[in-house]
Amino acid sequence: MADDCVFCKIMKREINADIVYEDDAVVAFKDINPAAPVHILILPRKHIPTLLDMEKDDEALMGHLHSVANEIARAFELDKKGYRTVINCGSDAGQIVFHLHLHLLGGRPLLQTIANGRGA
Ligand code: AMP
Ligand code: ZN
Repeated sequence: MADDCVFCKIMKREINADIVYEDDAVVAFKDINPAAPVHILILPRKHIPTLLDMEKDDEALMGHLHSVANEIARAFELDKKGYRTVINCGSDAGQIVFHLHLHLLGGRPLLQTIANGRGA
């Protein structure tokens, strides 16, 4: 947990969010500024700032994030037409919240741009 992190605050229920999934290791909630009909952020409870900060011990956690993405995608009926996942890492990628998170985007065709989930 990091005191000044907006996503840690959501997990501590200090900031409201529309939480759609949680377990011992992972929390998922709707993006406040959705870029697609379904736009959900999936994050580890562990405060890892960026993908570059993940450690060898986090490999299983990163796999679990993707299993949860599948589970949520099915719950939101994205399993027929598919979906996109995005992890922005650092400033050039446009990362604005420095608590590692996976964007899950779907519910409309997403163009094949250099994907950050926005303008796609
Ligand atoms: P990124 O560029 O990958 O760091 O994206 C951060 C995402 O977090 C953006 O899509 C924001 O819309 C979203 N976001 C920021 N604050 C909140 C919040 N309080 N609740 C839900 N989503 C948020
Ligand atoms: Zn955090």
